[in-house]
Amino acid sequence: MIGCDCEVCTSSDKKDNRLRSSILVQSEKTSLVVDTGPDFRYQMLRQNVKHLDAVVFTHPHKDHLAGLDDIRAFNFFTKKPIDIYADSLTEEAVRRDFYYAFADTKYPGIPELNLNTISVEPFMVGDIPVIPVLVWHLKMPVLGFRFGNFTYITDANRIEEAEKVKIRGSEVLVLNALRKQKHISHFTLEEAIEMVQEVKVPVGYFTHISHQLGLHSVIESELPENIHLAYDGLVLQFEEIK
Ligand SMILES: [Zn+2]
Ligand SMILES: [Zn+2]
Repeated sequence: MIGCDCEVCTSSDKKDNRLRSSILVQSEKTSLVVDTGPDFRYQMLRQNVKHLDAVVFTHPHKDHLAGLDDIRAFNFFTKKPIDIYADSLTEEAVRRDFYYAFADTKYPGIPELNLNTISVEPFMVGDIPVIPVLVWHLKMPVLGFRFGNFTYITDANRIEEAEKVKIRGSEVLVLNALRKQKHISHFTLEEAIEMVQEVKVPVGYFTHISHQLGLHSVIESELPENIHLAYDGLVLQFEEIK
């Protein structure tokens, strides 16, 4: 957090050094990212990502969207537009915030985006099957995504029963756990633990963590055995995405 000298913000443990939430999902043939927050450019450089086929968006909040302009680096190398998958609410924000990418006369070097409108219907990105899971972020509908046996949800404080069904059977659930104190639009640590247990997913990782949650090493030691805090650079491997 800018300007903060709390124990998390000044920690020398790399796992306390968090950028905005995003993941790279890769099969042998296809690479996509979920969200392009303000740290997108640095995240791509840090992980040395050379190729990207698509961006899939959860919702239009700036911490998930602001970095989209930097997608243009991938356009330069492939000379092709990048596929964007967003629901109508997020699409509206993409068109508004990055209006110059949709202008009739485009100046050189702008991002080239190929917008695909999604809802809760499953879709494919290359050979990666994607099942949207609708969750609630106070009053905003947000999409989580299930890729095979892996489900990723960043911004929720409520999930309806019918959507929980889509999460069940996953091997791993990544879920937001902001902090211990109540928040109007994010699960607390306790609520997130309850959700992982309720949907009976054997392994949980928490993301979208505030500096207010506390030190990684301290919180990690307090969690149930099957639940962990995610950290920047964490890699999870699955046999196949089916
Ligand atoms: Zn949000
Ligand atoms: Zn967020």
